[in-house]
Amino acid sequence: MSTPRILLDNAADKLPSPDGIALAIMELWQDENTTVDQLTQLVQADPALSGRLLKLANSASLGSRPVSPINGAIVKVGMKTVGQLAVAFSLIDKEVDGQCEAFDYQQFWSQSLCMALVCRGLGRLCNLAPPDELFSCALMSRIGLLALATIYPHELSELIESTPRDLAGAERGRFGFDHNEVSAEMLADFGVPPVLAEPARFHERPEQSGYAPRSRPAQLTHLFGLAFRLSDSMVRAGLEQTEKSIETLPGPRRLGLSTEQVSEVLQQSISEWQEWSHLLDLPSPSLQPGAETEPETAPTTAGPETDDEDAHLRVLLIGQWGREHRLKALLDEARGVTAQCYSDQKEMLRAALQIRPQLIILAEHEDRETGNKLCRLIRSTEWGRLVYIMAIVDKSDCDQMAQVFRAGVDACIQSQIGLPELDARMVAVRRMLALQNTWQKDRAELRQIANELALSQRRMEVLSLTDQLTGLPNRRAALAAMKQAWSMSCRSELPMSVIMIDIDHFKRVNDTFGHPVGDRVLMEVAKALRAEVRESEGIYRMGGEEFLLLSSTGGIKQLVIAAERLRRRIAALRIEVEQELLQVTISLGLAEREPEHERFDAMLVAADKALYAAKAHGRNCIFYHRKQQVHHLKVPRQP
Ligand code: GH3
Ligand code: MG
Ligand code: MG
Repeated sequence: MSTPRILLDNAADKLPSPDGIALAIMELWQDENTTVDQLTQLVQADPALSGRLLKLANSASLGSRPVSPINGAIVKVGMKTVGQLAVAFSLIDKEVDGQCEAFDYQQFWSQSLCMALVCRGLGRLCNLAPPDELFSCALMSRIGLLALATIYPHELSELIESTPRDLAGAERGRFGFDHNEVSAEMLADFGVPPVLAEPARFHERPEQSGYAPRSRPAQLTHLFGLAFRLSDSMVRAGLEQTEKSIETLPGPRRLGLSTEQVSEVLQQSISEWQEWSHLLDLPSPSLQPGAETEPETAPTTAGPETDDEDAHLRVLLIGQWGREHRLKALLDEARGVTAQCYSDQKEMLRAALQIRPQLIILAEHEDRETGNKLCRLIRSTEWGRLVYIMAIVDKSDCDQMAQVFRAGVDACIQSQIGLPELDARMVAVRRMLALQNTWQKDRAELRQIANELALSQRRMEVLSLTDQLTGLPNRRAALAAMKQAWSMSCRSELPMSVIMIDIDHFKRVNDTFGHPVGDRVLMEVAKALRAEVRESEGIYRMGGEEFLLLSSTGGIKQLVIAAERLRRRIAALRIEVEQELLQVTISLGLAEREPEHERFDAMLVAADKALYAAKAHGRNCIFYHRKQQVHHLKVPRQP
């Protein structure tokens, strides 16, 4: 089942970026001498921005070959557009949608960055993909978590607070999908090729991917998995603990890397990680030996919760002056106003990020154009569109007035303004803000309703795709999954295979013990089968006493072991019925995607033929279909 479209769409314009990125990008944007490299540096440190940029670069309108490294995307889209995109989304209004309280945003960004650096370092040794592509894909490989935190802040917060052992599992229970699926689908949506997008799906449990061992997809998944484990340990426990843990991780062995090599990559990545963290105002990674540090919690960047008319109006006064501005003293006297004063633009932007002012007053600047430029910059951000901006101007200078209004100012005041007028003007500001506030609340409510609808629709879908007796996904779900896996498999040229499973002589169970006992047997068999399948495989009840296992990542070769495991598991199953222990067996038929299969139905027919052969052979055995023939799978019987 795929992720609701609403998640993928919202990901394009709602995911937050670290405040440090916003600030740094706004500064760069103002500097005419900014180079592509400088911009790349910043953009590629932020998962949300990277994703947005890739999506744009890979959109149909730009045509040609898809790109996945960020610098490639910047060149394709053009620096000007990148700058606009970055500035526009750099300050997403966090107050309106509410943050996901239990989600540690700072840690998320910090870890994503660390994972990207480590993945690129390890990638250089393994030679599996260009290091820059590995960097951007690893950076975004957990973006689904940010998407869930953005779209379902309260629900995800509750899940995190319940500290589940397996967050992804808890998410599947709640939403019908988990953050890893969302990440993989978002990467695909951004135009990342499947071979680099799919590792995101399995990076938390690479051993569950089901890819053929040592195949490129398997190696890439292990690479992302190792980078994830290491970065997770780095943010939680620091360098020393992480180095100690390398030996215990399966990743290095799978990738043919020594502990020393991995350790060297970590050492190299950490200095870069520290530099970036500093630049982006992210919690600095710990290098203290043995320091078990809790990462710093995010400084709260959102302003006061309420915006009602009686609340204090947050005002920023900005301009270039030598001493305290006269207006500051006046604002301090005005009713219900908290004002802060800045003559340094960088400081002002930093403050703007922190207090999210509702009113900005542009005081005198050395030259008017500096003030106008600043106004245009504020207006080009998502947050700044809504701020009320006043400028101090000489009202006799009509040209000047026209220019400041064109730059985006809402009202002009004279430098000699007195308290009564200032107070009166605040009434107008409050009225505008109150209107805006209502409008934003309505919008947020609508968005919330849309999100809830998407979730309840998803729950209905889950219900209609679930078999009531066994709780397994049903035939409809199987057909949909097969259709999707089929097109993916054809595109990626990765194998795909199925096992048809049928309980032997099930009719006898019904005839001997009755239908309710038959039902119990079906439930027990379903439970046992489910316990044996990997995350990358799906198990479905096709109807009656027939089940299907779908592997969208492996061929028959990988499935034979699984098939024998299933056969044994069921043969060993004992179901207590009327003080007797009931035993059942299953027959299995395997088939994989072959060039002569035009559609997945052909593969199913092949598996069915193999199953039929297994029944004819005497049941409780496995047959597979290959090149138009069925073959008995002879597994050496173990004692
Ligand atoms: P074979 O080894 O050839 O597969 O023999 P079989 O008896 O298993 O196959 P057959 O197709 O003859 O019988 C399947 C039986 O499964 C018939 C049907 O009544 C029973 N069945 C189908 N769905 C359910 C169900 O939901 N509950 C129960 N209790 N029985 C079911
Ligand atoms: Mg049958
Ligand atoms: Mg049967």
